[in-house]
Amino acid sequence: VSVATTAPAPASAQAEVSPQEVCPLCGAPLKPEQSWCLRCGAAARTRLAAQPNWKALVVALLVVVVLSLGVLAAALVKLAG
Ligand SMILES: [Zn+2]
Repeated sequence: VSVATTAPAPASAQAEVSPQEVCPLCGAPLKPEQSWCLRCGAAARTRLAAQPNWKALVVALLVVVVLSLGVLAAALVKLAG
């Protein structure tokens, strides 16, 4: 896998602190209750909501696999020894 290490920040730091949200496409200012850009019609919220934390999922899966392998290895060593 090619997991980019350019974004080590946790999900909490991902939230932008800018008081004024703008359209990701045209940069038009968006009100907090706006779900769609009134200028270009782009979905202003979908971009944020559609970002699954797949990296965390991959990491969690890797941890589970590593732990499973470790337990398996320990069991094999115990059986062999
Ligand atoms: Zn727009």
